[in-house]
Amino acid sequence: MRPLRRQGQEINMTDNITNNLINKEHITIIAGPCAIESWEQLDKTAKIVSSLGLSYLRGGAYKPRTSPYSFQGLEEKGLEFLKKVGEKYGLKTVTEVTDTINADIVAEYVDVLQIGTRNMSNFALLKKVGEIAFEKKKAVILKRGWASSIKEWLLASEYLSLKGYVEVILCERGIRTFDTNTRFTLDLAAVPVIRKLSKLPIIIDPSHAMGQSDLVTPMSRAAIAAGADGLIVETHNDPANALCDGQQSLNPREMSELLKQIKGLASVIGKKVR
Ligand code: PEP
Ligand code: MN
Repeated sequence: MRPLRRQGQEINMTDNITNNLINKEHITIIAGPCAIESWEQLDKTAKIVSSLGLSYLRGGAYKPRTSPYSFQGLEEKGLEFLKKVGEKYGLKTVTEVTDTINADIVAEYVDVLQIGTRNMSNFALLKKVGEIAFEKKKAVILKRGWASSIKEWLLASEYLSLKGYVEVILCERGIRTFDTNTRFTLDLAAVPVIRKLSKLPIIIDPSHAMGQSDLVTPMSRAAIAAGADGLIVETHNDPANALCDGQQSLNPREMSELLKQIKGLASVIGKKVR
């Protein structure tokens, strides 16, 4: 039995990793729409992601929406589209698991399981996703709860490895503060703090933190400068008509510009972008 992941324990990031979502040579950029809306929308967006030379496509099929009247996602149909589009363009796929009930189904379709901010403290879900990820060798992205401390976040990550080693990637996506100019406050201090406390990789989600597309690129640059291992960025073929989070989604031109800037930074720190 492999040793369990424990805070502060020395873990070689490349040991026992099956998905290898994060490695030391690359800045990994996961891009795609907030929600999978249709085959056409996902296909067009995936084509853009692939033409930019990226390797990971995101897209929500089960959407945890604040309002019950908002678009809730295409559920299993969306997962089918994600799998097929991923295969078509040779992209690995990332989607959120919102409930223990759909966890097994989601894992059948995608490479990487995401736990959203609203579920960071859903311990039954963390245990279930940890078991599935261990058995099916899936990587798990664990977003920080928007009102959770770094310690609570790290302890939540340990639930995922109770059964055995799982590739866990932390994702800072903004926390609630008193300021209302941005959707959340991106806590980039989490990057060096996590580096001190843990061996887990950390990526940044500037889209949900900022909530406005024109603020995504500056904070993406800052995230990489702070030492983040990667980004997860919402991008859409037609943000003005998106069913979810269009206001914070980059259009193809903005995504291409973001990538250009991140590549420039990456070369300075001796990394490649994928
Ligand atoms: C998402 O990435 O689609 C999402 C809902 O993010 P968060 O859980 O950070 O709000
Ligand atoms: Mn979103």
